[in-house]
Amino acid sequence: MNSTPFWGPDFDQLAEEDPQIAAVILDELERLRGGLQLIASENFTSPAVLAALGSTLSNKYAEGYPGRRYYGGCADVDRAENIGIERAKALFGADHANLQPHSGASANLAAYGAFVSPGDTVLAMSLPHGGHLTHGSKVNFSGKWFDIVSYGVRQDTELIDYDEVRALAHQHRPKMIIAGATAYPRLIDFSIFREIADEVDAILMVDAAHFIGLVAGKAIPSPVPYADVVTFTTHKVLRGPRGGMILCKEEHAAKIDKAVFPMMQGGPLMHAVAAKAVALREAASPSYQEYARQVIANAQALAAGLAEEGMRPVSGGTDTHLALIDIQGLDVTGDVAEARCDAARITLNKNAIPYDPQPPAKGSGIRVGTPAVTTQGMTEADMGQVAVLIGRAVRDADGNDAPAIAEQVADLVSKHPAYPRG
Ligand SMILES: *Cc1c(COP(=O)(O)O)cnc(C)c1O
Repeated sequence: MNSTPFWGPDFDQLAEEDPQIAAVILDELERLRGGLQLIASENFTSPAVLAALGSTLSNKYAEGYPGRRYYGGCADVDRAENIGIERAKALFGADHANLQPHSGASANLAAYGAFVSPGDTVLAMSLPHGGHLTHGSKVNFSGKWFDIVSYGVRQDTELIDYDEVRALAHQHRPKMIIAGATAYPRLIDFSIFREIADEVDAILMVDAAHFIGLVAGKAIPSPVPYADVVTFTTHKVLRGPRGGMILCKEEHAAKIDKAVFPMMQGGPLMHAVAAKAVALREAASPSYQEYARQVIANAQALAAGLAEEGMRPVSGGTDTHLALIDIQGLDVTGDVAEARCDAARITLNKNAIPYDPQPPAKGSGIRVGTPAVTTQGMTEADMGQVAVLIGRAVRDADGNDAPAIAEQVADLVSKHPAYPRG
C-alpha cells in the first residue's frame, strides 16, 4: 500500500489488534473535529510531525548526545538530532540548543538543575497572577526544594510590576530570576529583566513555553538575546510534538546538557526529537510567519468580541495568542463557564484572574487561545462568531441552548476542518 519503504502507523492494524484503544483514538479525533478548541496551550500538529512521532525512532536507546552516546547504532538518530539542533539555533539565533527535554516541566527542572541548588532563592511570577507550577508551587519540585520569592501584576494595570520585580530582586538577591508565564496575555520586557538580573548578579531564565511559537514566527520580540537560558514546550503555538527544548548562551551549554542528561533524564525520545526537527523546519517557513501574525490578530479579535459580550479582557486585551477573561460581570465562576461551554462543544479552561476573590478551583475567569483555530484557517470574522457563541454558552444556565450552540459550532468548524476527512 505504501509507495515508500516507511514502516509506520497502520490504523487498520491497530483497530484489528486493539479495538478498545482504536475507539479512543477515533473518538478523540471526532472531538477535535466537531468542536472549537480554544485551550491556549494546544494546537494541531501536521501530518509530517505525526509521521515522525509514529516512527520506529521510538525504539532507539540513545543516552548521551550526537557522537557521544552510551549505546551503539546511533548514527542515524544522531543525524536527526544534529539537524534539529542546527534548525533551532538558526531559527532562534541561539548559541546552543538541547532538544531532549521530555516536556516543558522537564526543561525547567533541568534549568534549575544547571544553575541552582536546593535551598537557593529563585524569583518567579506568582501562580495566581499567571506563573506556572514549576515557578514555585508548593506541590511542585520548585516550591518544595527552592526558596521562591514571587512577583505579580499591578492591580490597576494588570501588567507585570517591574518596580516590584526590581525591589524584590535587591531585597532577596535571588540566584535565578524567571520571566515567563502561562496566563499572561501581554508582551514581557526582557531587557528590563536582563538589567535587574545584572544588578543582582542572577541568572535570567525565560520560560517561553507559551509564546515561543510567536517568536519563531517573528510576530513578537525574542527573549534569546537577553536570557542566559530559554526553556519552552514544543507543542503549544510552535505546533510541534509534545515535548520541551532549551536554548542557552555558549558559556552555559555544557551545564545545560549535563543537567538534561544524566542529571534529570535517561534516554531521549528520538521519535520526538525527530518530530521537533520537523516542526522547527515548518516554523521557519514564510507561511508559519503568516500563521503567527494571524494567531495574534485572532486573539485580539476574540478578546474584543468577548468584551462586547460583557466579559472583560484582563489588562484590556492581548498582544499574544491568548486572552484572560474576567467573567464576573456575567455572575458566573470560571468552573461553571467551562462546563457550560463544554456542553456546547466549546473547549476552553477556567482560570484565576489577578487578585481573584474566588478559590482556584472555581476562578473568576476563563482563558482562551487561538493557536488551534488559526491552524484550522479561521480569521477575525470567525472570531466574532466564536465570541457570540461563547457568550451564549456562558449565559446558558439551564443548558437549554447548548444543543443549538453546538450545532452552530459544528457548522463553523466544518467550514475550516481540522484534520480533514480523507
Ligand atoms: C505549559 C507550560 C510549561 C510546562 O509544559 P509541560 O510540557 O506541560 O510540562 C512550563 N512553563 C510554562 C510557562 C507553561 O506554560
